[in-house]
Amino acid sequence: MSRHCLCMMLLVFSLRLPASSTQAAADRQVAITIDDLPGIGAESMTAAALTEMTSKILAALRQDNAPAVGFVNEVKLYKRGEVDARMQALNLWLDSGFELGNHTFKHTSLNRSGLEAWEDDVIQGEPVIRMLLAQHKMKLRYFRHPYLDTGADLETRRKAEAFLSRRGYLVAPVTVDAWDWNFAGVYEDAKKRGDNNLLEEVVRLFLSYHDAVFAYCEQLSRDVVGYEPRQVLLLHGSQLEADHLRELLQLIRKRGYRFITLEQALLDPAYSLPDTYVSIEGRGWLEHWAITKGKPPQGAPEFPPQIAERTKALRGY
Ligand SMILES: [Zn+2]
Repeated sequence: MSRHCLCMMLLVFSLRLPASSTQAAADRQVAITIDDLPGIGAESMTAAALTEMTSKILAALRQDNAPAVGFVNEVKLYKRGEVDARMQALNLWLDSGFELGNHTFKHTSLNRSGLEAWEDDVIQGEPVIRMLLAQHKMKLRYFRHPYLDTGADLETRRKAEAFLSRRGYLVAPVTVDAWDWNFAGVYEDAKKRGDNNLLEEVVRLFLSYHDAVFAYCEQLSRDVVGYEPRQVLLLHGSQLEADHLRELLQLIRKRGYRFITLEQALLDPAYSLPDTYVSIEGRGWLEHWAITKGKPPQGAPEFPPQIAERTKALRGY
């Protein structure tokens, strides 16, 4: 065999090897979850606007065959003269073949409100979604912790888990969270003011930050779990998602993901890993597992400071 021939063979062989970790894990899987339904800022929106926003989010999910579970704060349904219309906007999720879960009645933090007040808010958050699910021959089975606050001490955390289990809930974990809510307020404000330059900037940063957070979570997964488990992405019902979820889903597909149900994601053995994480600050499950192992995660991508600054200014702090 000539030297040239050997070189060619080596070249061909090396071309067939994965060039990066992105290609190495070709069968990535992610479940989509969308919190704070019927949507961020729903209190100040009309039922018609909520219906339109919901329809756009659902159309984007359907176009990409992405299953999703939406997590509801029922307090947002109670606006005088609009309760029925708001319930119907929520019902679109189930009519479109998606699932709904409980996110407490008024978004109560377990860590900041204490166990009893939080338990009351979980119970108060059930009746409408339970009824709507029953009308679609489905049962209420998922709970998502507001702020991902799972308990500030281990006793509270375990008591809360036992309470949720007794009421028939599975806790919906999160492994990928790029704080879309933080972009959403800036986006809505720019849209109201007709600031097209800022709108473009927000969307560009929203997409690039999600890409960076996915890359970080994939690396953290390999470091902590030993492989990339079926991920669970946290998003929020918002005008930003209504207008740009399609682009986000395409970006996720480009990273090699296919979309699966939350039920399929939770079959991954990673979700049975030891988890003793407790803190006043809620965090994602990859961080739970890393900290439980005594390996606090490093190198998270910085949230775009220009968006953080604008969010602070909008909220007046
Ligand atoms: Zn929430």
